[in-house]
Amino acid sequence: MKNIKKDEKFHFKHRFGQNFLKDDELLENIVKDAGVEKDSQVLEIGAGAGALTQKLCEKASSGHIFSVEIDKTLQPILDKNLKNYSNINLRFADILTLSTEEIKNEFEGKDFKVVANLPYYITTPILEFLLESDLPIIDITVMVQLEVANRLCARVGTKDYGAITPIIQMYGESKITRLVDRTMFTPMPKVDSAIVHIKLDRNAQIDRKYVSSVIKKCFLMRRKTLQNNLVASFNLDKEQALSFIKQLNLEERIRPEQLDLASFLKLAELLKRN
Ligand code: SAM
Repeated sequence: MKNIKKDEKFHFKHRFGQNFLKDDELLENIVKDAGVEKDSQVLEIGAGAGALTQKLCEKASSGHIFSVEIDKTLQPILDKNLKNYSNINLRFADILTLSTEEIKNEFEGKDFKVVANLPYYITTPILEFLLESDLPIIDITVMVQLEVANRLCARVGTKDYGAITPIIQMYGESKITRLVDRTMFTPMPKVDSAIVHIKLDRNAQIDRKYVSSVIKKCFLMRRKTLQNNLVASFNLDKEQALSFIKQLNLEERIRPEQLDLASFLKLAELLKRN
């Protein structure tokens, strides 16, 4: 392991999702996919042994890196690996316990990027925390399990298309920038991974919380028709549900995974007016 010397006796903690990267080229490519520049402001979640953190510090040499790591036992390793950089503030905390005010203050109110090789056990809570906050985030570039990446970026009507897909689309444009084989990590996880880049659109005038709840309810019974889901989740009778579907110019027996974001937005509007 490049960033941990043999005599440092670090024990990887499965419960914190510790699968560290070691390949220089991959680390540089993540920084490139994230579009990090000389003066970028970057929030990193999970410094690990600092392999990605170092690359971020090097690239954003006149910017600022705020790296949050939950595992205090990594401190001696991180202190050593990051000692040459003055543009970093390393904080030992659970990212989900930090207040948005604290994060905003760290960047003095400036817009920032999020770059992370995410701990897989809390990928969704972390993405929800970031997206649902009012933080001035420009974009999010994260390593996630391949299966999750496929869901985040799925095309409508495919098996990977789930509630999370149109929900993410409400926040911005997401794409997979590269696939990452499991052998690139130490210890090696049981799954392959991918890098997802989400470019946030903070101007959209959408009540995202409300629309998200509508989308989630429409997917409660994925194998059932939209009509059945509407009846079960919104206390409608079959005729009312069908009338909504017709107003949206959709097929009577359409299933939730066949609705694109535009249809969900219209449906949410109709339900609100009802
Ligand atoms: N960035 C390093 C790399 O690429 O090699 C480590 C990535 S590892 C997949 C995820 C890191 O997130 C681990 O170091 C883990 O301890 C840390 N972590 C796990 N849960 C966390 C949380 N709630 N808040 C902050 N860091 C967390």
